[in-house]
Amino acid sequence: MQDVRFFSALSKQYAEGKLNKVELETTLFYPDSEGGQLGDRGKIGNADVLKVYRVDGGALVHEVSEPVTDTGRPIECLINGSRRLDISQQHTAQHLLSADIFSLYGYETVGFAMGEAYSSIDIDGDQWDWERSESAERMMLEQIMAKVDVEILEVPKNDIHLYPLRKKMSEKIEQLGTYRIVKIGHIDYSLCGGFHVSNLAQLGTVKIIKYEKVKSDWTRLYYLAGFRALIDYQKKTRLLHETTRSLSTSVDELNYRIHNILTEHQEAKRINRKLSENLASALYNSFRSQKATDNVKTVVEILPSEEIAKGLSGKLLHEQNTISFLLYERPKGNGYILSSTQENWNAQSIFRKVKEFLEIKGGGTEKMIQGTVEGNITAVKEKCESIIKSYFSSGGLL
Ligand SMILES: [Zn+2]
Repeated sequence: MQDVRFFSALSKQYAEGKLNKVELETTLFYPDSEGGQLGDRGKIGNADVLKVYRVDGGALVHEVSEPVTDTGRPIECLINGSRRLDISQQHTAQHLLSADIFSLYGYETVGFAMGEAYSSIDIDGDQWDWERSESAERMMLEQIMAKVDVEILEVPKNDIHLYPLRKKMSEKIEQLGTYRIVKIGHIDYSLCGGFHVSNLAQLGTVKIIKYEKVKSDWTRLYYLAGFRALIDYQKKTRLLHETTRSLSTSVDELNYRIHNILTEHQEAKRINRKLSENLASALYNSFRSQKATDNVKTVVEILPSEEIAKGLSGKLLHEQNTISFLLYERPKGNGYILSSTQENWNAQSIFRKVKEFLEIKGGGTEKMIQGTVEGNITAVKEKCESIIKSYFSSGGLL
C-alpha cells in the first residue's frame, strides 16, 4: 500500500510531562483501538507519530516524538502505507476466518483483538483442536488463491435487509442512515468501518498459531496474516532446524527424541538425589568420628553440589557445638551454607566476621545462613578455615 500524504495546519500543540501532543485541523490518521484495530503511524512534519487517540469522542490527538516545527503554513503529514497494509491484512483475515469457522462449525465470533505481534478472535464454542485449525486454514488458502474481491458497499438503511449479514447489527449502528458493508465475494457480508485489502490475494496466507479456552465455553484463536505469517514461518523453520541439529534428529522424530531425553533426565535426577543422600551420610559419619577441639567440631568443605551441602548441613544442625561452612560451585559463582550450633558464636556473627575479609552475601537465621561468596573457591575455603581457627586459638576473642 502506498504511503498517504496530506497537508494540514496545526490546531493545537502542547506537552504533557515528557509527551509531545499535536492536534490537526484535518487528519487522515486512524486512531488506535477504534473498532478493535491498530492505529496509523507516520510523520507530522519533522516528528514521528507514536500514538493516535480520540479524546472523549472529540478531537484526535497525535502523540509525537518531538515538537512539530510550525512555519505558519500547512504541514506535510505522511501515513505509513506498509503498516496500513499490515493492519488491512490482519483485519480482512479476521472477516475471512470468522466467516469460514461459522460455515464449517457454526461458531460465531464474539470477540476480536488486533495486536502489534498477533491478532485473536474469540468464538462461542469449545470444541477445538489442531485438525479444525488446519481445515479452516486450508479453506482460507483456497479462497485466497481464488483471488476473491473484497468490496466496500455503502447501503441505504432501507436496503440493508437485502444483504445476508453474518452478524446482527448493534443498536448503535442501527441508528445510522447508511451502512458500510464489507463484502468478500459471496463468502461474507459484515458491517465494518476498518481498513481492508481489496482482494483476498493480498492476504498471502492466514495461519492459526495457537488456541486456548477462554471463559467457560469459548475458544480464543491466535492468527497471523500476510508477512506476519511468513516471518513466523521463517522463525520457526530456523528454530526447528537448529533444534533438530543439536539433538541429532529429524523433525518427524523430534517429539520422540524430546520424550526420551526428558525420561533420561528424570532418571538421572533420581540417581543424583540418591547418590547425594549417600554422600551426605558418608560425610556425616566421617564428621562424627572427628575429635572435638575445645568441645567444638568444625567442618569447612567444598562439596560437589548444593543438594549435598543441604543434606549434610541438615544433619549437622542436629549436632551440638558444631560449626560448618559448606561451599559448592554453581554455574555462576560459589554458593555456601553456613551453620552453627555453638552457643557463643552463631551463624550471624560468623557471617559478619567473614564479611570483613570476603565478598559474601546471604540471609537466614541465627543457626543457618545460605548465600553466595565471590572468589576462587579453594582460596575462600582456606580463608574461612583460618578465620574459624583464629577464633578458637584466641579463646573466642576476635
Ligand atoms: Zn473489518
